[in-house]
Amino acid sequence: MKEQSVTSGKELRGIPVYPDIVIGKAHLVDRSRAKILYQCFVNKEQVTREVDRFEEALRSVEAQFISLKDRMPDTVKDQAFILDSHLMILKDSMLRDSTINKILSEKINAEWALKKTLEEIRGVFEQIDDDYISNRISDVENVAERLLRTLSGDTAHSLSNINHRVIIVAHDLSPADTTELNTAKVMGFITDVGGRTSHTAIMAQALEIPAVVGLENATAWVEDGDLLIVDGSSGVVVINPEDSDIISYQERKLQLEKYNSSIARMSHLPAETPDGHRIAITANIEFLEEVTAAKDYGGEGIGLYRTEFLYLRGKGFPDEEELFEDYREVVEIMRPAPVSIRTLDLGGDKFASDIAISEENNPALGLRAIRFCLREPEIFKTQLRAILRASAFGSIQLMFPMISGLQELLDARAILDKVREDLDREDIPYDTAMEVGIMMEVPAAVAMAEVLAHYCDFFSIGTNDLIQYALAIDRVNEHVAYMYQPFHPAILRMIRQVVEAARNANIRVSLCGEMAGDPLCISILLGIGLDGLSMNARAIPLIKKLVRAIPIKQARADLEEIMRLNTAKEVRTYLLKRSREMFPELEEKGYLLD
Ligand code: PEP
Ligand code: MG
Repeated sequence: MKEQSVTSGKELRGIPVYPDIVIGKAHLVDRSRAKILYQCFVNKEQVTREVDRFEEALRSVEAQFISLKDRMPDTVKDQAFILDSHLMILKDSMLRDSTINKILSEKINAEWALKKTLEEIRGVFEQIDDDYISNRISDVENVAERLLRTLSGDTAHSLSNINHRVIIVAHDLSPADTTELNTAKVMGFITDVGGRTSHTAIMAQALEIPAVVGLENATAWVEDGDLLIVDGSSGVVVINPEDSDIISYQERKLQLEKYNSSIARMSHLPAETPDGHRIAITANIEFLEEVTAAKDYGGEGIGLYRTEFLYLRGKGFPDEEELFEDYREVVEIMRPAPVSIRTLDLGGDKFASDIAISEENNPALGLRAIRFCLREPEIFKTQLRAILRASAFGSIQLMFPMISGLQELLDARAILDKVREDLDREDIPYDTAMEVGIMMEVPAAVAMAEVLAHYCDFFSIGTNDLIQYALAIDRVNEHVAYMYQPFHPAILRMIRQVVEAARNANIRVSLCGEMAGDPLCISILLGIGLDGLSMNARAIPLIKKLVRAIPIKQARADLEEIMRLNTAKEVRTYLLKRSREMFPELEEKGYLLD
């Protein structure tokens, strides 16, 4: 039996992202402890030691690649060439000799020399006017990253290699890390950083992995092998719990499951209020594999297909055929229900290690989403061609993310028109009536909503980003997570402004941020008059149940009162009171997130 330690029964509180409870052993992936010492001058004697360290790292990484190649499952053996190319890069004089020369001539440590060499190589690749070759910089970056980790003593934790049932404990997981998780093995995860609407949290929901993020110091408290209770509905993590805790959490889990299955039985009924007001409830998805779940949970379509993840799988850029097949399958499964495909929203907290977006000080304010696509028209066109071609197989609506003003929308539409002309010339069929909408997630776009409404067919309000940009809070920063306030009166006013602009121009308006699936928000969103709400598929049954219980008249009257309140706290208190009167079970089941 494990000895009693200071952590026995210790409770940590973080941000819950997926309402389920798991109990299991911790697997610590603490990359933050392997600090890489980048910049350091060395004296004459240490120079030889730095060269030796670098050569030792080269040998070690070579052995790692060979072993990875040997262990590759048959199903992905055709990808072995990637490791072959990594092995070639390791031996290439451009990387090897240049790093060693820098150590010797500039008297700097191996890490710094390697980083400088990498920058030089990047510069050379950028000059090459050939997409294929210039994209190969990502291979060099992968190799350099592994070398840096090896130099720092961190023997490259790979999440995909986890082969026993564990709860991952990490300082941070990127959305790309999350895609690597083997969901058959990983029971849940907890992280020090992150907010409720970070893309890592969104991925956890998509993969149905119970998770708590933003715990601040979980990696400091938890030891590898500790027993953990992770309550993804309340955000509580218990380290080495007492038997009585385990029994009470198991009981809670059972109750939660019972309640969920009772509401799931009603999820195919329409979302219509008792006094006959109907709204569309659709699902947000990140992967093709989620489409069936979206249907099973009662989704009336896909309101947001986040298309980034095919680009984040670490296999380079997907080509037109791969994208087309993926979109066609989604559309065919959902047919005749509509699928809103959002064009690439890379950047911000979604970056791909093998796509060369240069490091930015403020990624959320950087070359993200539509800005990246307008800068890289070839990548954009490939995706647009795939979407248009898939539109011939069902009902697609196209959405541009992060539009901040009319010019950006016109520029994006001009590229879309060009792609349409190309397809016409090649006699390739597509839906000529495909609707084109925009995400409303930048405050400037909200201010311009009256104008933008005349240049598109629908609006979809992305509150995850709208809250981030309007309240000036980084959505992945746990220190300002308390400021993520959907009930901030400024946010409610902005949503109302967008809805009014859409009404005046006679176009549809829906909302697809996490707010749409938050039970406390529903009466406000009904009252404001949204035509549709799109959310994580698992949230659909409960949201439909609530819509079917709240008369629209009451939602509108409540909204009038709410719009007179001046702080998020007052709004929340008002809604909590209302919710306790109407749905007392929600709080008990942990559905009212803090
Ligand atoms: C949003 O910003 O609300 C949104 C739905 O898009 P994403 O979460 O992918 O940024
Ligand atoms: Mg967004």
